[in-house]
Amino acid sequence: MAKTIEIVKVSTTGDTIRYELWDNTGLGLLKKQKVEAWVKFHNVECFGFSAKGLPESILVLPITLYLLPVTWFYGVELVVPSIDKRLYERLPQIYNSYSKIYGPFKEEWHGKVTAKTIVENKIPESRFDNVIFFSGGIDAVHAGINNLGKSNVLVTVPSIEGPESSSKEISGQHFLVAKSRLIREFSAVSGSDWLMVTNNFRMDIFDDSKIQHDLRHIFALNSAAFLADGWFGIKYLGNLLSSAPFAYAMGIPTLIMGSTFEPIENQPLVNQDGANPELSDVIKFAGISFAGQDGQYMRRSQKMKNIAAWCAAHGKKIEIWACCKDNAEQCCMCHKCMRTLLNILCVKEKPVDWGFVNFDEKKFSHLVRFYRYYENNPCWIWDIIDSIDDDTVYPYCDKLLHWLKKTGYKRYFKRVRKMKVIRKWLRIVKVHKYPHYVKVMFSKLAGKKLE
Ligand SMILES: [Zn+2]
Repeated sequence: MAKTIEIVKVSTTGDTIRYELWDNTGLGLLKKQKVEAWVKFHNVECFGFSAKGLPESILVLPITLYLLPVTWFYGVELVVPSIDKRLYERLPQIYNSYSKIYGPFKEEWHGKVTAKTIVENKIPESRFDNVIFFSGGIDAVHAGINNLGKSNVLVTVPSIEGPESSSKEISGQHFLVAKSRLIREFSAVSGSDWLMVTNNFRMDIFDDSKIQHDLRHIFALNSAAFLADGWFGIKYLGNLLSSAPFAYAMGIPTLIMGSTFEPIENQPLVNQDGANPELSDVIKFAGISFAGQDGQYMRRSQKMKNIAAWCAAHGKKIEIWACCKDNAEQCCMCHKCMRTLLNILCVKEKPVDWGFVNFDEKKFSHLVRFYRYYENNPCWIWDIIDSIDDDTVYPYCDKLLHWLKKTGYKRYFKRVRKMKVIRKWLRIVKVHKYPHYVKVMFSKLAGKKLE
């Protein structure tokens, strides 16, 4: 018998689309056999947007794109009531691109999508030029200031973010309040309209830990992209595209996202993940597609320089949001906060002015010097350290930046990894009960420079 996941019902209530899904695979791929999923569009009154009256093949785009990746591995057939013709024709290319980045996938894993009707949708007359995806981070802000002068809608989809928060409802109230404040403020600065999209996809649809485990251990995926962000990354663009019905209704043909690519030394692109342009380039539906990503070959340190220069030239103030925790304010301790704080310090800016209200120079220096700034891929550490100038006196954390420069990215990266292992062992054997030996061990293992 065919293993199917079926979208059995689609309904709308103006700003919300609801779906009823059935998992008939017998594999427990969805959290429950019957799942209620929804997508909600916020601030729609500014656009006169309503999901009511949109073609069914447009309404099902978010859930179809989110469910699609599971068909690649378990021989699952996805049954949808209707599908956009262009998307339907692109399915083999989408599979090939994901196989290239995350795989290679074996041919026999290939599932299929069955639609009762295939519909050729024509995008309505355009009211705007672009959707710009806006998370509030350096890449997104750069994409925003780089596309001024066009008629843009900034779109934030907070429900996609934070692999570290997967055990928790990411669209928590604190996070949502912060995100909507951020996008409102940046829309005022950049003269763009804005929309926020939330959904319960990550919370309620897949049994993510089971699938992640299977992909790793049964399907034996071990590509760089898979090791970087795994099943979470494979679903990333599908979740971002829960904004698709809005783009269609507004007649917006072009979607822009900031690139997250970062070079290291003379290698141009090393950090493979779910935001890879080879993936966004291949997804097309109903006359809508992604434009080339913003800043694809630009280093993150350079983007921060451009943002600071633009703000200074135009007398504007921008908040940057990097934190992956569900807090009303940024923690200044997670790796995304720390990465962004170092970028800000390297362009001689004061972090508090950029929205890091909890920043404390002494505490932050302590964290970095004790190798608490951890990255899976050393490319960001390389970029930060390479952007520090020996002859510059930095107004904030000057000693720390010069210490980092002297340490070098290879040594810093190596020590961070070593310290991570040591800390884990210390926790296991509860060595904190013997402070003298801890001190001796730390100074021996981490080198004398550790004070
Ligand atoms: Zn943080």
